[in-house]
Amino acid sequence: MPKPKIAFFSFTSCEGCQLIVLTLEEKLLDLLEHVDIVHFREAMSERSEDYDIAFVEGSITRQSEIPQLEEIRKRAKILVAMGACATTGGVNYLKNYLDMEQVKKIVYKERADKFDTIPTRTLEEVVKVDYRIEGCPIDRDEFVEVTKSLLLGRKPRIPTYPVCVECKLAENVCVFDLGLFCLGPVTRAGCKAICPTYGSGCEGCRGLIDDPNTSAHLNVLKEHGMTVDEAIGRCKLFLGKRTK
Ligand code: SF4
Ligand code: SF4
Ligand code: SF4
Repeated sequence: MPKPKIAFFSFTSCEGCQLIVLTLEEKLLDLLEHVDIVHFREAMSERSEDYDIAFVEGSITRQSEIPQLEEIRKRAKILVAMGACATTGGVNYLKNYLDMEQVKKIVYKERADKFDTIPTRTLEEVVKVDYRIEGCPIDRDEFVEVTKSLLLGRKPRIPTYPVCVECKLAENVCVFDLGLFCLGPVTRAGCKAICPTYGSGCEGCRGLIDDPNTSAHLNVLKEHGMTVDEAIGRCKLFLGKRTK
């Protein structure tokens, strides 16, 4: 039986999520026993337009990217949005707070007229996405879990509970008690609460949980002397799409 063919594509992003896949090392070798990677610009020069599963990283920020993504969608049986840039717009979404002409001038200065830019869109805002792997960057174990599930024909198990759950399991001191800000109560778990574990607040890179208890979170913020406006401002880095 032929192995499923998988391909990796990248739109506007830092390509850090693809790099996470490359750092899987021995797990990547195990994976290669079960799949053929036919397109992965960051890792190989061969390219094929014949694939079953497309992992797509990055946001759509140029008109020219739209038909490219539509073509990938047409060819792939399963399309997986990989990383915050692809799933929520990630840091690319910050430009949507500004006028596009202003954005071009800030980035390209006197050459602004030579470049195309459009407001950032997630992949789901352009094509149908079958599955999402959240995070900036993605968690490598979650990538393996999602890929294994797809190969076995079952739905990947993605946490529906907040980062606080993993944080408590790790027996961390809550960063609110250290005077810091944290979006853990409303952010989807799956990263092993890595930021609070290393003493920083969660910035929400894995997106909101399905049914976030935002009023409880706001109460916690108020208890720690933070206003709603300040809290919304802090959400803009990764949850901008939900704060506009
Ligand atoms: S989600 Fe983060 S790590 Fe992944 S491509 Fe975007 S900016 Fe890079
Ligand atoms: S540090 Fe953040 S994630 Fe951890 S318990 Fe406190 S609010 Fe929740
Ligand atoms: S703790 Fe929050 S910001 Fe840090 S990796 Fe997890 S979801 Fe992302």
